[in-house]
Amino acid sequence: MSAEVDLSIVVPCYNEHLVLPEFHKRLCAVMDAVGQTWEVVYVNDGSTDQTLATIRDLERQDPRISSVNLSRNFGKEIALTAGLDYARGTDGVVVIDADLQDPPEVIQEMIAARSDDVDMVYARRRLRKGESLLKRLTSWGFYRIMTKLGNRIVIPPDTGDFRFMSRRLLNDLLQMRERHRFMKGLFCWVGYPSKELLYDRAPRLGGKTSFNYWSLWNLALEGITSFSVLPLQLATYLGFAVSFFAAFYGVWVIIFTVISGSHVPGYPSLMTVILFLGGIQLMTLGLIGEYVGRIFNETKNRPLYFVESYHPFTSQLDSEENSVG
Ligand code: UDP
Ligand code: MG
Repeated sequence: MSAEVDLSIVVPCYNEHLVLPEFHKRLCAVMDAVGQTWEVVYVNDGSTDQTLATIRDLERQDPRISSVNLSRNFGKEIALTAGLDYARGTDGVVVIDADLQDPPEVIQEMIAARSDDVDMVYARRRLRKGESLLKRLTSWGFYRIMTKLGNRIVIPPDTGDFRFMSRRLLNDLLQMRERHRFMKGLFCWVGYPSKELLYDRAPRLGGKTSFNYWSLWNLALEGITSFSVLPLQLATYLGFAVSFFAAFYGVWVIIFTVISGSHVPGYPSLMTVILFLGGIQLMTLGLIGEYVGRIFNETKNRPLYFVESYHPFTSQLDSEENSVG
């Protein structure tokens, strides 16, 4: 295969067979208007429904499709990485969700906004239709915390993975092979000039989100622990603060005893202090554990994913060569 394309569109798919045909239709309409050669890389992330069959179907009809079939479900961040690894666009890549929450029409604006001195164009949501108040609130809080913690890297709020990246930025991004991948953070970590594009995020077209509050919490933990050791330092300062007050309290107890003699009662306050400190100690240990666990996972140095099959796009123009495999 020596065919080249300008742009790659990377789409991680997990149980998306309901929306894929519609997604592909809308994508084609948009990309045909862009006027550059392109491929779309569908990454099947171990779906348990008809997603793979749907991709194969589309592949038979459209030679511009490349597909990466992962050996099992690895999660969105890794599926996305696999897609980026296999993307062949020489000019750049666009990352987009399959569920049509990111409207493909925005890609056209992204490409228009991209220039020689803009390496990344990220889409920022103006509105979040069909998302609960709690989800909006938690996500708002998360971005604010990340901005405070992220030493020197600022993750723009209300942005997902939906963005355009130039080839040179992508090549740098792909050098980071850590297992705990908080992609939104990694995108910013590489740097380069970037530009923001406002868009309206639509509700999911079909199927259901695979992210519940528990997985969002874990994603938030991932984000914080992979970009900051501040929580560890926090434990140190908490220790300082508690010892400081304990010292004052100790002096007070001595003076009180000297003045009015020893009082045996004191069980409630003793109990409170012991439980309070026990709680803090366990929490801090847990916190250290979060980091140690991540060190453990990283040191194993396993490959990020395994690919069961990769079908590169066959051509841009001659759809007669439309064979798969
Ligand atoms: N996804 C994936 N692997 C997973 C979970 C999700 O590849 O284990 C894909 C999914 O198919 C979609 C994108 O990641 O294209 C975003 O997922 P989802 O819509 O469930 O997340 P949300 O939009 O709710 O953040
Ligand atoms: Mg979605």
